[in-house]
Amino acid sequence: MPDPAGWLDLPPDRMRELGHQVVDLVVDHLTGLRDQPVRTLATQDELRHVLDEPVPEQPTDPGALIAFLTAEVLPRSLRLGHPGCLAFIPSANNFLGVLGDLLAAGFNTSPGAWPVGAGPAAVELVTARWLAGLLGLPEGSGGVFTPGGALANLTALAAARDDRLGPDATGGVLYCSDQTHPAVLRACHVIGLRQEQVRILPAMDPDMVRREVHADRTRGLRPFLVLANAGTTGTGAIDPLPGLVALCRDERLWLHVDGAHGAAAALTERGRKALRGLDEADSVVIDPHKWLFQPYEIGCVLVRDPDVLHRAFTIDRFRAQTGYLALSRPAEAETNLSDHGVQFTTASRALKLWLSLKGFGVAAFRAAIDHGLDQADHVAARVRESPELDLVAGPALGIVCLRHRGGTDDLQAAICRDVNEDGRTLIATTTVDGALALRLCTINPRTTQADLDRVLAAIVDAGRARS
Ligand SMILES: *Cc1c(COP(=O)(O)O)cnc(C)c1O
Repeated sequence: MPDPAGWLDLPPDRMRELGHQVVDLVVDHLTGLRDQPVRTLATQDELRHVLDEPVPEQPTDPGALIAFLTAEVLPRSLRLGHPGCLAFIPSANNFLGVLGDLLAAGFNTSPGAWPVGAGPAAVELVTARWLAGLLGLPEGSGGVFTPGGALANLTALAAARDDRLGPDATGGVLYCSDQTHPAVLRACHVIGLRQEQVRILPAMDPDMVRREVHADRTRGLRPFLVLANAGTTGTGAIDPLPGLVALCRDERLWLHVDGAHGAAAALTERGRKALRGLDEADSVVIDPHKWLFQPYEIGCVLVRDPDVLHRAFTIDRFRAQTGYLALSRPAEAETNLSDHGVQFTTASRALKLWLSLKGFGVAAFRAAIDHGLDQADHVAARVRESPELDLVAGPALGIVCLRHRGGTDDLQAAICRDVNEDGRTLIATTTVDGALALRLCTINPRTTQADLDRVLAAIVDAGRARS
């Protein structure tokens, strides 16, 4: 039996040794990604030895366990940071971000309450302020970090519902397009909006939305929010933000912009142009674990008026006995971030973003994002030149959709399978205007033009072989 004071302790030398083992494994992984397959599939049977393990009552050597995780568990997955991964939204994390997470876990302080984690809270506040500034939101804007875009959208929608509809959301109506991310529609469900309160339109043409709003008002309903996409996940499409800004101003509606994927493009000059109007939104979601190259998890919701978050989420609204929290009450002018969102205790998520924004400098981020836009332009130019390919969507915010000319949906699906077979590439399909298309998301800065040319050549070859 170990010393009772140290049941869960390790000798300092052993801690260092294990820590170095982990750091070495992570560095090997990150620097060796290109030599690994982009995805390693595993069946349930192949993971039986993980799934069926009994509860480990007795200790096992942690060095061996770390080796097991990195040999048997972590590799059996999609490598979203692999330069050949063009499916989903690739996530090319950066090493400073990884170290930020290690520091956050190691020091394990929570930024939620100022008297509990003043320093980390200050980092959250300033990092959110930087993001707001980078997106062009006015001075005084701010927000909170969340585990990801799903919770960031949920936070914004709940606050907007409270602000515009008050305690009773009956008759409230929200407008969005059918390209809205399912996690966002789920957030609508979670905040208690019924299906008939979520008007899903085929497009966010401002005149059409205005007609819907007027019709709903005539029916005695209470339109309160327009949900715009700044980069749909499917095609990178941007809803017409300037027109929706004007509509929301005229009709006194809350404008929420889901920029989980695309808002980061505002760090570049052409992205800022494409996203004109984003800076007029009442709330914006950005997902730093996508196009700001952070390790999972980190999302962010930004609002023009942070008091809206406070009014919606302050624990004082709820009739709980909270005497035990007296020690965590902030002084005047200090902020308790746990009063600004859904979560209570949180990890110091902003540390990784702070560390990488400062460590590399924002200019490096702008260049990396610009590169992703260039890569999508390059793919689109090649597709336009090709007599065998058709460009069907984009390039938009790092996403390009194309089809093999004249082929059926089945042919596109078969091409996708063929291209992915070599293990160095993963592309996806999506539906554009009712037809299946090949979808390439080019935002990983480690993906080279040669990688993309190889993928396009493979698409053409697969198409030829099959038609
Ligand atoms: C990824 C994404 C989400 C969901 O964000 P998570 O970080 O996966 O929770 C929401 N909206 C859009 C547009 C996205 O691309």
